Amino acid sequence: MLDHDETLGQAREELEGCLDVEATRAVERRYLGKQGVVQGQLAEIPRLEPDARRAAGQAANRLKQDLQQAVQERIEALESADIAAQRAGTGFDATLPAPHSQRGGLHPITQVTRELEDLFRSMGYDVLDGPEVELDYYNFEALNIPGDHPARDSHDTFFCQGDGHLLMRTHTSPVQVRAMERFEPPMRIVVPGKCFRQETTDASHDHTFHQMEGLVIDRNVSVSHLIGAMKTLLRGIFGRDLDVRLRPGFFPFVEPGFELDARCPFCTDGCSVCKKTTWIELLPCGLVHPNVLRSGGLDPDEWGGFAFGLGLSRLVMLKHGIDDVRHLLGGDLRFLEQF
Ligand SMILES: [Zn+2]
Repeated sequence: MLDHDETLGQAREELEGCLDVEATRAVERRYLGKQGVVQGQLAEIPRLEPDARRAAGQAANRLKQDLQQAVQERIEALESADIAAQRAGTGFDATLPAPHSQRGGLHPITQVTRELEDLFRSMGYDVLDGPEVELDYYNFEALNIPGDHPARDSHDTFFCQGDGHLLMRTHTSPVQVRAMERFEPPMRIVVPGKCFRQETTDASHDHTFHQMEGLVIDRNVSVSHLIGAMKTLLRGIFGRDLDVRLRPGFFPFVEPGFELDARCPFCTDGCSVCKKTTWIELLPCGLVHPNVLRSGGLDPDEWGGFAFGLGLSRLVMLKHGIDDVRHLLGGDLRFLEQF
């Protein structure tokens, strides 16, 4: 008969030497398998004296159970060591932050649009929306640009198929008359949105671009109101006061019309952004033409107003130093991920 403690002790020693589950199973087979040590002991029992068989059977079973337990303990130890090794090594580390899922961000145009919307709301303006597919009437006619007006040529319009009354709006100005039709004056509105022109694209022209239209209708509106509003706008955009100047500009829907320039915020004596002039062209603006007020159902003798068209695409380029407008809507993630 085998000595219980000696056999168990030897098995434990062998199990200690097992570095993986497979090796442990081999030891298990050697002791507990069909040709194993315990089986050999059980096979001897019939040859024993009848009085001794019972004790020998019990001893063999106890050895079997203890060996099974020793094997199980070794396997569990190996498995938890495996996990510990994984935690310590390249695999799993419960203390590391969870991996970030890829999240999108706001497009730079959306960011600037929202900043400006907040700014104008703080000045009492409402933010409006208008259709991108527009009627010829609102895009041109109601804005004092009748069918034979030369200003139409400069708009390079995408017309929709059909009778020519539908087009892709070439500016956000059509919302001026839509707003006058819908709301009672006085009113202050801004209208951010996409505009479309059938243009040969280059670094400063794209077929789709963003504008923000502004319109104020009130009694006794003058050019100084316009300048005041534009200075506040610039302070909001660039975070400081900038000098502005007005140059005469012709746009059929304003009278008088101006080009508003601002002192270059990037230099004091000329840089590539301002093309060495220290002024940057910022936006066309002016007092609303009486014909446009009439289109909106308002009496030009009672009501007046000013309007401006802020180029959002251009503003984003200025703000971030982007040198090609086509990056903005090009959809290249390498560009967009920078914002
Ligand atoms: Zn400059």
